[in-house]
Amino acid sequence: MGIARINLVEAKNSSNHVKIKFKNGKIDTLWLHCTVFPLFCKNCQQSQTGLFLHSGSRYGQVGSLPCEFCGASIAIVDHDNIVESIKVNDESCSFEKLYLLGADYIEWFEEWYGITMAPESLFEGWTNWVSVDQLREQIETLTGIETDDGVRYQTDERFNPLPPDINRWINLLDKSTVPLPDYVSKIGE
Ligand SMILES: [Zn+2]
Repeated sequence: MGIARINLVEAKNSSNHVKIKFKNGKIDTLWLHCTVFPLFCKNCQQSQTGLFLHSGSRYGQVGSLPCEFCGASIAIVDHDNIVESIKVNDESCSFEKLYLLGADYIEWFEEWYGITMAPESLFEGWTNWVSVDQLREQIETLTGIETDDGVRYQTDERFNPLPPDINRWINLLDKSTVPLPDYVSKIGE
């Protein structure tokens, strides 16, 4: 268990995951397990420069580490076996909102592009956990949309930078007809 700073190479080799439940061949529920994320310090109000890897928690306690700027403790708490949100010094962060990983977005692809994400053998029930990259690649293959791994986005000025898999996921949404929420901005290419 714990929380650790990771470098960009480690971040590129680490993945956030999703698990989809289908009902009548349609997406019913999306579970998230987000173990790679940015952090900010509530004490000095600064985003930490790198990314962090969550490696498990006990009774919801993930761990803490010192702010790289002011040294204050940044404590991370989660809720359950799966990491859909965290609390950073009592401030909540929902990955569905921060990472734009919601069933609605995937449904949009199904409806607008006439694709189906449900494997033939899985009209009803849960998929295995898949990485966000695998989910993105599946949608790219089905829709023909090509994404770029050099584009970066910001969805919350505190929780910044976003991990590589999430930037590329948002690039898929950005290149599609999916309406992006107004809290999303492109910050570099
Ligand atoms: Zn600080």
